[in-house]
Formats: sequence, C-alpha cells, structure tokens
Amino acid sequence: MKEIRLAARPVGWPTAETFEIAETPVPEPGPGQVLIRNVYMSVDPYMRGRMNDVKSYMPPFAVGEPLDGGAIGEVVTSHAENVPVGSYVVHSLGWREYSVADAARVRVVDPAAAPTLSAYLGLLGMTGLTAYVGLLDIAQFKEGDTVFVSGAAGAVGSVVGQIARLRGAKRVIGSAGSAEKTRHLIDDLGFDAAFNYKDAPVRDQLRAAAPDGVDVYFDNVGGDHLEAAISTLNKFGRIAMCGAIAQYNDVAPPAAPRNLASAIGKEINLRGFLVGNHSHRMPDFVAEVGGWLRSGRITARETIVDGLENAPEAFLGLLRGDNTGKMVVKLG
Ligand code: NDP
Repeated sequence: MKEIRLAARPVGWPTAETFEIAETPVPEPGPGQVLIRNVYMSVDPYMRGRMNDVKSYMPPFAVGEPLDGGAIGEVVTSHAENVPVGSYVVHSLGWREYSVADAARVRVVDPAAAPTLSAYLGLLGMTGLTAYVGLLDIAQFKEGDTVFVSGAAGAVGSVVGQIARLRGAKRVIGSAGSAEKTRHLIDDLGFDAAFNYKDAPVRDQLRAAAPDGVDVYFDNVGGDHLEAAISTLNKFGRIAMCGAIAQYNDVAPPAAPRNLASAIGKEINLRGFLVGNHSHRMPDFVAEVGGWLRSGRITARETIVDGLENAPEAFLGLLRGDNTGKMVVKLG
C-alpha cells in the first residue's frame, strides 16, 4: 500500500519536496483493533503546524514517518466486536491507503445518513463541529448579532456563516480570496455581504460591509483580519480565535494586530479554542446541523482531489486557497 510521509521539515511555504510517497506492507490489526481501507482523507491547515519541530497542542510529525490526518474508510478486518467488518469509521490515522486503529478511537458513522461519505470529514465532521462550537459556545452567538467570519468560503467558515444565518443573525459578513468565492457566499450560502480581502485593506472593506459594527468575529485568519475586526467590533464584542492561517507559513512574528489594547476599552472577549476538547457537543451538533442538511437549509461545497499521490498538491492548494468548502482527497 501507499502512504504519504514527511520528507523534510518546510521552512516557510511547503513544497512538493516536503512530501514523499512510499510503499509499505498493509499493517496487521492487533487485539481490539481494526484495519480500515480509507475512502476519503481530510486535508487540514493544522497539519502545517505539525510539520514544524515545535512543542504545540499536538506532537510534531516525524521526518520519514507517515503523516496522520482525518479520514473515513471501511473496516475490512476487525478484532473488535463493536466495530464489525463493513462498518464505516472516521479516524485520525489517514494519509495512507490502509490504517490500523484502536476500535475505541474510531467513530462509527452511517453512510446512509449523509449525502456522501466525505460529509463526515466536513459539514458533519470535524470542521462542521468547529464552526458550531466556535460560534455558539466560544463566541456566545445570540440572535440579532452581526457576525463577521474570515476564511468564509472554506470548510469551517462556510458553516459558521450558515449557522449564524439559520440561528437568526442580523447580518452575516464573510471575507474570502476571490470574486468567485464572494459570489458563492452571497448567492449560494445566504451571506448578506462578502468582500475579497485581496482587493483593498480589510479594515476599509469590513467597515463598509458592517455600518452598524460587528458583534461576533470568527477568526480563521489572524493578522490584518484580526486587527480590522478589533477595530470594527462593538462594545462587548466576542471573538472566537479558531485559526490564523495568514501566518502558518511565516518565518517571522506577524505585524498585526497592532490594536489589541483597544479590546480593553471595548471590553472585547477574545477566546481561543480547540475543537478536540469539545467533542461532548457532537450529539447536539449532529442533531441540529443534520436536521438542516436533511431539510435542505444548509449546504456544503467540497473540493475533491483524486488519488493519494495528489494529496501533497491538495495540501499546498489548501494553503493557496484553491479550495471552496472542504478539501478532501478521494482514494482509488
Ligand atoms: P479552509 O477550508 O478555510 O481552507 C483554508 C483557506 O484559507 C483557503 O481556502 C484560503 O482561502 C484561506 N487562506 C489561505 N491563506 C490566507 C491568507 N493569507 N489570508 C486569508 N485567507 C487565507 O480550511 P479549514 O476550514 O479547514 O480551516 C479554517 C481555519 O480554521 C484554519 O485557520 C484552521 O487552522 C482552523 N481550524 C481550527 C480548529 C480548532 O480546533 N481551533 C479546527 C479546524 C480548523 P482564500 O481563497 O479565501 O484565501
């Protein structure tokens, strides 16, 4: 079988040379374990952080070893009664054709309950839960709020905006990196306003899009987006600090935000979070977002790249903004 390994630690932007595709025997599951034939793999920005040799909330990837990542696949051998052969499971040992996992560490899902299996990596999976928890629990969204989300056409951002709309936001504003993406936000996802952050300073565009200010900022980007949001937020505004993709490939500390101290006078609440510590919200999330999905009130685009060997290019594309919605790799 094939797997993707970290060939070298990138400094700045990763390249094709960051990755290596290797042949290796299909692993044997031990007691309590299952062998999974992966069908879709998740491509996620946080993987960039794990390529650096720094202490963080997850251990770094090792050079010469396979990358881990979210994946969904079919159980083909089982040594665990509660996860029989033929089950479909979500797990975190992807970036390879077959994975062995402890049955206790996989999530069994119902393929019939989703439009496609890949939805369990996006809208009904980790990125959907991130949007749900970040908006409702961390930013304490309430009906009538004006919400601004950056990275709005991506996997997390596109769900944030739609949940805000469905939960009664006064106004939902998104930023993204192309005219096609901003059109998608307004025409397909029901955002009230959207701008291309590459067209003009974020602060100017956000002020124009939010004449009455912003109550909640869902930050996927950091840097000048965060600075613009702090300056546009209303008194007692809330910020869910979800990601800072603008700086993941930086080799020097970011120049912005320069106005953090104004959060004091505005009594802004900035709160970071990791979705992995909020899995207790999974049942509420699946009930509410699954309901919207069944009734056609929420939608999620995916960008699907074919073939394990194209996963490195999918990852580089994610960092460049090639994706609309969730980026996934489909295995043969
Ligand atoms: P996306 O689907 O949003 O893909 C990443 C997007 O980032 C690209 O499509 C690109 O879109 C945008 N981007 C890249 N560079 C920049 C830049 N310099 N400035 C602005 N936008 C940029 O990824 P996800 O939805 O999976 O993740 C979104 C964010 O959420 C990331 O920061 C990620 O790390 C974070 N995250 C955090 C979690 C947590 O537990 N805290 C869990 C999951 C994700 P564009 O064309 O618009 O530039």
